[in-house]
Amino acid sequence: MPIILDWDGTVTVDDTLILALREFGDWQIYLDAAAALRRGDITLHEEIRRDAESIKTPIDDVVAWLVEHLELRPGFHELAEAQRPLIVSSNFRQLIEPILAREGVELEVRANDVEWEPGGWRATFRNGDVCGTCGEPCKRADLPTNGEVVYVGDGYSDRCAAQAADRIFARDGLASYLDEHGVAYEPFDDLLDVTRALA
Ligand SMILES: [Mg+2]
Ligand SMILES: [Zn+2]
Repeated sequence: MPIILDWDGTVTVDDTLILALREFGDWQIYLDAAAALRRGDITLHEEIRRDAESIKTPIDDVVAWLVEHLELRPGFHELAEAQRPLIVSSNFRQLIEPILAREGVELEVRANDVEWEPGGWRATFRNGDVCGTCGEPCKRADLPTNGEVVYVGDGYSDRCAAQAADRIFARDGLASYLDEHGVAYEPFDDLLDVTRALA
């Protein structure tokens, strides 16, 4: 059964882009964009676009900092080995692949792209089409359309896609959201919980 695995807050302990923004970006832009997303004034892509644009540091410098500091949730290696999950992220592949290399883990990654520009990082999104279910471009487009799917996630970007899966593992904001909407899921703290449940 294909396992779809979110990256930030699911594989990583903290959200990569939030860490990068705190260290290199404009925190106020982040706060304003996050509030606008919560109010439903902007899409997730618009939030990410604004956040990325507030970082002017060369991508390699941010990657070097992340490789040094980014902490992963226990059980990632075990889950990767046992299930070969597909990583589906709203983050940028440029910030994910170096961490996988650090860990010596090779997995398929579907993520967005970012380029450095003098005015700030420029995000390019893989899914441009508006999702018929949630009304914004979303990760549902990345899910296999035939066969049963397991979804593992924690946040806003997982809300719609998780509900297309046959089995959901959720923590944090995704878990609260699914509670509010009466959708069944299995809670997890670390990825060992998920690996054990799927064994
Ligand atoms: Mg996440
Ligand atoms: Zn959707």
